[in-house]
Amino acid sequence: MVLTDDQRALQETARRFSRERLLPLYQKREKAAILDRDLVREMGRMGLLGVEVPERFGGLGLDAVTTGLIAEEIAYGDFNISLVPVGMSLNAAILMRNAQPELADAWVPRMVRGEVVIAICLTEPRGGSDAANLQLRARSDGAHYVLNGEKTSITFADRADGYIVFARTGAPDSGAHGVSAFFVPADTPGIQRTCFDDVGSAIAGRGSVFFDDVRVPVDHRLGEEGKGFTQVMQGFDYSRALIGLQCVGVAQASLDEAFAYAKEREAFGRPIAQFQGVTFPLVEGESQIAAVRQLCFHALALRDSGQPHTAEAAMCKWMGPKSAFDVIHQCLLTFGHYGWSKDLPHQQRLRDVMGLEIGDGTAAVMKLIIAREKVGRVAVQYL
Ligand SMILES: Cc1cc2nc3c(=O)[nH]c(=O)nc-3n(C[C@H](O)[C@H](O)[C@H](O)COP(=O)(O)OP(=O)(O)OC[C@H]3O[C@@H](n4cnc5c(N)ncnc54)[C@H](O)[C@@H]3O)c2cc1C
Repeated sequence: MVLTDDQRALQETARRFSRERLLPLYQKREKAAILDRDLVREMGRMGLLGVEVPERFGGLGLDAVTTGLIAEEIAYGDFNISLVPVGMSLNAAILMRNAQPELADAWVPRMVRGEVVIAICLTEPRGGSDAANLQLRARSDGAHYVLNGEKTSITFADRADGYIVFARTGAPDSGAHGVSAFFVPADTPGIQRTCFDDVGSAIAGRGSVFFDDVRVPVDHRLGEEGKGFTQVMQGFDYSRALIGLQCVGVAQASLDEAFAYAKEREAFGRPIAQFQGVTFPLVEGESQIAAVRQLCFHALALRDSGQPHTAEAAMCKWMGPKSAFDVIHQCLLTFGHYGWSKDLPHQQRLRDVMGLEIGDGTAAVMKLIIAREKVGRVAVQYL
């Protein structure tokens, strides 16, 4: 892929920030389980959030490929911090495409500056794969909707400043056609939130959000009533390709460290890099990650040129986390007993990246989407 001068400059800025500022404190931040808002604002000041957002909303007006370059670089230093730019890009795209202009004007520039973090509330306790079967109710009441119900497994649940909420406005059995999307500021009365004790990505504060008679103005609806799935969900193709690049970035960090270690560590009187049993698995990982990287940028380039990329994005989403998990596992083994220690970051990276084997849709659901794109509804009638 040939980069423009602007893309190379931004990639270099992100790379330096990630390796000098993020990487050294990656595990310390995760242990503290706090999203460092100063760091998020700093990323905003550096222009690393929402580079594809048009200049009138405070972004740089660049493209999806450039956003992907930044996602990969940030994830190299701290996979969990990279959830912020990726989530920001998805949420800004949803708001800019579907919100009333006043609402988008009020929130998107603050997102780009790193002043606010937005969460997406789709999953409910009864299940996430069958997302259209959601129950959280939005009842029309004059100039408002009234929301009641529970969303669960929400990234940034207890630390978000606003929520994009999918709710049922149609009849209980109306499926995807009865779902609408809303933007709800986190300080709206009637909202309660919790935080789970997770395997990884603790700084993201995954948890539940409860809506108890939450009144949302009609002009906070995103898109048309009943079009939450057909209009608003389209944004997910974007985040799926970016998620693939987060996984590429974090796996590349472990690979680089493992190759460097193999050059230094000696066994049987020579560097272990001389044993093909050590280098070949790493080389296979390097190849796999290079292939996933190209797939992700291909999906983003299709997006930039206005072409369909649903299948390609779903491929990124299942192959990215799976490949990264396998590759980081191999890197951990390369470090022998040191790899098993929490002093080294590989175990943390494994736990963090595993979350995205589930979050934003499991591999099984991604494969259903790809099959549907290939052969149509005959592959899956219920999705
Ligand atoms: C780290 C993380 C972050 C998340 N962040 C968010 C967020 O910000 N917002 C949000 O709304 N949700 C979020 N989620 C929830 C996530 O989207 C759901 O967990 C996911 O969609 C799966 O839903 P489920 O957990 O209810 O599993 P279920 O739907 O109950 O599925 C259970 C298992 O059955 C499999 N399965 C289900 N249906 C099929 C089928 N038809 N064919 C084959 N296999 C099938 C699944 O693959 C899975 O392995 C997050 C989850 C995680 C782990």
